[in-house]
Amino acid sequence: MSTSREALTKELIAAAQEMSALDLVGGTSGNVSVRIPGEGRVLITPSSVPYASLTPADIVEIDFESEIYTEGRAASVEHVMHLEVFKQRADVGAVFHTHSIYASALAFLRIPLPALLEEMVVYVGGSVDVAEFAQTGTEELAENACKALGEKAAVLLGSHGVLCAGHNLAKGLHIAQVVERTARIYLTARTIGVPHELSEDLIETYGSIYEYTRSED
Ligand SMILES: [Zn+2]
Repeated sequence: MSTSREALTKELIAAAQEMSALDLVGGTSGNVSVRIPGEGRVLITPSSVPYASLTPADIVEIDFESEIYTEGRAASVEHVMHLEVFKQRADVGAVFHTHSIYASALAFLRIPLPALLEEMVVYVGGSVDVAEFAQTGTEELAENACKALGEKAAVLLGSHGVLCAGHNLAKGLHIAQVVERTARIYLTARTIGVPHELSEDLIETYGSIYEYTRSED
């Protein structure tokens, strides 16, 4: 394992543990992956290993055809969805799949998350759409997720959870937090009334910042 790959593996473990500590997933659910620059391969968290006990030996290296280069470990069952995002989006370097409570609640209601906060437009690219339901681990789910994701940084997976795509691990985790917090504000506001979305002008202005920064470290 080269030094940079070792460093990337450690970064991936730290990000996955932070995702768990932030309560964006429960138990061993959810998963995180990171692109190995220039190699057509990805590092991804394994299936059914508690986040707190993850070590570099647990992390699975996989290529875009789902061939695994790590002995003795099964990649997360959702690797198909992760790989499809990397294949379709050259700007994406890290993918987080969470089951965060408020954003997942919207996914189960099949209600999109509107662009309420300016940071939703700057970091996510605007509102977050809901992908049509498909069974976990299938090509169909991967296709549905990518279709609803489009060029944005997050998508709600119908009756399942959330997928966030960032240029690197830090950005991906930040996007997952922005989406969850906005979903919490949205659902809280909806208990009293219908919250206002940002104006089209503002969405266009901040949207250009997203376009400009989504490929930057
Ligand atoms: Zn899931």
